[in-house]
Amino acid sequence: MRSRSLVMERPGTLTVQEFDVPDVGPNEVLIEVELCGVCGTDVHMNKGGMPLDFPVIPGHEFSGRIAAMGDAVESDFAGNPVAEGDAVTVCPGRACGDCWFCDNLPQRPTACQNRTVYGFVGTSQEPAIRGGMSEYVLVEADADFFRLPDGLDIEYGALVEPFAVASYALSQAFPPGLPFAREGYGPGQSVAVQGAGPIGLLAIATATATGAGEIIAVDMIDERLEMAERFGATDVVDVREHEGDDAVVEAVTAAGNGGVGPDVVVEAVGHPSAFEQGLRMPRQGGTLVEVGHFADAGTAEINPMHIVQNDVSVASSYVYPPSQFQTSLTLLQHHRDRIPFLDLFNYRADLSEAESAFETQAAGDSYRATIHP
Ligand SMILES: [Zn+2]
Ligand SMILES: [Zn+2]
Repeated sequence: MRSRSLVMERPGTLTVQEFDVPDVGPNEVLIEVELCGVCGTDVHMNKGGMPLDFPVIPGHEFSGRIAAMGDAVESDFAGNPVAEGDAVTVCPGRACGDCWFCDNLPQRPTACQNRTVYGFVGTSQEPAIRGGMSEYVLVEADADFFRLPDGLDIEYGALVEPFAVASYALSQAFPPGLPFAREGYGPGQSVAVQGAGPIGLLAIATATATGAGEIIAVDMIDERLEMAERFGATDVVDVREHEGDDAVVEAVTAAGNGGVGPDVVVEAVGHPSAFEQGLRMPRQGGTLVEVGHFADAGTAEINPMHIVQNDVSVASSYVYPPSQFQTSLTLLQHHRDRIPFLDLFNYRADLSEAESAFETQAAGDSYRATIHP
């Protein structure tokens, strides 16, 4: 059997090639991909921003059906029994289980020194088909996959990975600094989200699902602000209506908790100026979660006094542990009637049209372009 797969031969050069599908080992699972999202990270990689072992089959946000599985495979990560034909999604990151970080900090698998991530591995290493923009993906023995709950359309499976990023980000504000009400994040509280792209919208969805009292969306594109409201934003701040950083910060502060500022701000823009503004948005003693700067977008100019005088906690959110996929699936299953998740997929392409999907995603014209192999 052969797999048609999208290959990034080097940054900026995408072709469709065929690969042999290897025999499925006793602990392995072969997935026939239904769809795969084009992430900002994929765009970054295509622009030459990542030193990888090219050529690479991109794609780390995918779902599909089990085409074949080894004799020893009985269940998914959560212990759900699986069978051929089941709809699944795959946690792309794999920790080695053997380095200092895996031994000492198993709760942070992203710190693994030998971590590999599907969608970012070279095709020169077997098995070659380890990226989601491909007819088939071979899931190795130690990789985590998740069966989609019955009745959840397979397309939701491609949102599980970005939703894990976003829900994990808001979770960074959960642990209370002091065991009193209004420390950290909790039900009824005020959350501002900078940037209504896919991660920002899914952070808004997380705030909606976890019972935030107010959700303030900050963006500068009409369509995105409207989408933010459909995802549960109770208030929007249109950056274009406020001239200069101070005015934007003031508008968000005015909207949060009756004028003292939101309890939590999630920075999901990924531009250094957004971090500079975000640091000044939370109320006294509030929290800023930084998730937008996965890629290097340059340095921010900050006045450390703002951190001290406003007693702001700054939390980082780097990817997620595999169990966050289960959280994503639960949120998707229970809130899909209320939040129009699948409207994020607003540009669909097959493998031969992948280049246009990358361009659309790079231009910000789609929330999540998807490739349908
Ligand atoms: Zn991604
Ligand atoms: Zn490790």
